Amino acid sequence: MLISFLLTFAYPIFTTTMIVLKTVREVDQHKQQNNSIDSSLGFVPTMGALHEGHLSLVRRAKLENEVVAVSIYVNPKQFNNPEDLKHYPRTIDQDLDLLSGILDHNDFVFTPSDEEIYPDQIMEKYDFGLLETIMEGKHRPGHFNGVGIVVDRLFQIIRPKRSYFGEKDFQQIAVIKDLIRQKDYDIEIIPCSIIREKNGLAMSSRNVRLTQDERQKAGKIFYLLNEARQRVLANIDLLKIQDYMINELNNQANFSVEYVAFAEEEGLKPTTRIGDKKLRCFVAVFAGDVRLIDNYPMY
Ligand code: AMP
Repeated sequence: MLISFLLTFAYPIFTTTMIVLKTVREVDQHKQQNNSIDSSLGFVPTMGALHEGHLSLVRRAKLENEVVAVSIYVNPKQFNNPEDLKHYPRTIDQDLDLLSGILDHNDFVFTPSDEEIYPDQIMEKYDFGLLETIMEGKHRPGHFNGVGIVVDRLFQIIRPKRSYFGEKDFQQIAVIKDLIRQKDYDIEIIPCSIIREKNGLAMSSRNVRLTQDERQKAGKIFYLLNEARQRVLANIDLLKIQDYMINELNNQANFSVEYVAFAEEEGLKPTTRIGDKKLRCFVAVFAGDVRLIDNYPMY
């Protein structure tokens, strides 16, 4: 609480630290006061409950840009499951504390309310083609439309030169690139590697909802992705590898696989054949009621 108060109200006194902006007006004013920002503004959109995965994006943005903006906004429109939205962790004071260790000068954190992001009924309907019908698109109806709406709105408010996204949400990166193409924005999308726990589990804000046992067992996802890679390199049939992975994951108590899929890295066309295009394996699995996703390059 104290940190968010200081960062919000003490800005005029302590300008060496980042500032927290809550409204579109404040962002506009801040950008006007620092008119060199636009030429080198790196942007990291997040839903908060920050961990090392998010911070790796922020550090990279900091290295590559003069000014960095991070948004923290839990976007209701991208939750296809109301229970998931209800339980989504919110840790704003801790988030600001973590960001204040990386951001400074003109950097800012944007923490808007729903009213700032959706002042009127924005109900844009995007067509992301194949991406809406496979993997996350298929299993989370409406999710990518919600992502498209909020990212477009944030891009319009922040107007970044570059924007940083984690490969943990690999399919999301393809959606954002398509959004950029559709809107003809001059924004460079920078994909960043997945940061993992010691046991290989991809870091995620939702991991705090896992029991210790589930968290430990969830290391199996990355173990199997590595095993899949070895098998793909040994030219074993993809359907056999897929079956094996599904069985191994479902055999863990409380685990339930939503999908294991292979897709071409470029364009994400699903495939059951080993060809000459770069291939990735994608997994979505429930550990109890926590949904985990991961992916890994095969070759
Ligand atoms: P979220 O707050 O879950 O919407 O994530 C914000 C950004 O952080 C997205 O671009 C995610 O892909 C990225 N991200 C989340 N977890 C990780 C991770 N473990 N490694 C790298 N990037 C991540």
